[in-house]
Amino acid sequence: MNLSGNLIKMRSEYNTPVDYYLVLGNSELYLNSFIGKHIKLTHNGVINCVACGKQTNKSFADGYCYACFQTVPMADPSVVNPELSMAQYGIARDMEWAEQHDLIDHFVYLSLTSGVKVGVTRHHQIPTRWIDQGASMAIKLAKTPNRHIAGLIETQLKKHVADKTNWQAMLKNQVENAPDLIGKKNELSELLHPELQKYLLPDNQVTTIEFPGNYVPETVASLSFDKQPLVEGVLARIKGQYLIFDSNKVINIRKHSGYHITFEGSE
Ligand SMILES: [Zn+2]
Repeated sequence: MNLSGNLIKMRSEYNTPVDYYLVLGNSELYLNSFIGKHIKLTHNGVINCVACGKQTNKSFADGYCYACFQTVPMADPSVVNPELSMAQYGIARDMEWAEQHDLIDHFVYLSLTSGVKVGVTRHHQIPTRWIDQGASMAIKLAKTPNRHIAGLIETQLKKHVADKTNWQAMLKNQVENAPDLIGKKNELSELLHPELQKYLLPDNQVTTIEFPGNYVPETVASLSFDKQPLVEGVLARIKGQYLIFDSNKVINIRKHSGYHITFEGSE
């Protein structure tokens, strides 16, 4: 098996365990069948912006050239900080895009990555968002009609709970043991401003996520195609957007969006 093209984040399908696909250009391959096998990823030095396609020496915010990073709606600061979305007032880099991406239902959720954290996602990104961050459990907390309000809820809750993932702990499976997500949701719900409590969801279903491969690295060394064009080893596990090799080396695929890569491996 030999496949080349520009990398974007791995596509996943919720299953037990999660099914992962490596996407290169217009092709993709089912990665789970390479677990336990030696694989090789080679970067030829070319990076193409994921928005405009132009070659760029450096990528910003997971795959944009600097010009696109500063102008395209997908790289707006409200992607990272939802409360900054002003689309409900008609203010956005691109209102047409904002109508489809900001002025739609959003969920505020609690997920377990290493500890419990709060996050925001567009309604159709569940459970993809949870899989991408390597969460082993998650629960929806609130449903809002736009991104801004979801961001306001997250801003209040992150005074009481983390909003970032400790990725090393997540990869090493150093995860808080059996936390009570429903109890945590109830506790945090009461701390919310009364105006925002009307968005709380009664649905207390807890989703659990299992990742493919049983290997748990004791330490993690993060690889980058900027430092080494060749990444190879026995693929031992896939978690979040990371490939984990049996040598304790890991690589974040999403971070290398736009990089031209050749994949080699035999199932
Ligand atoms: Zn660009």
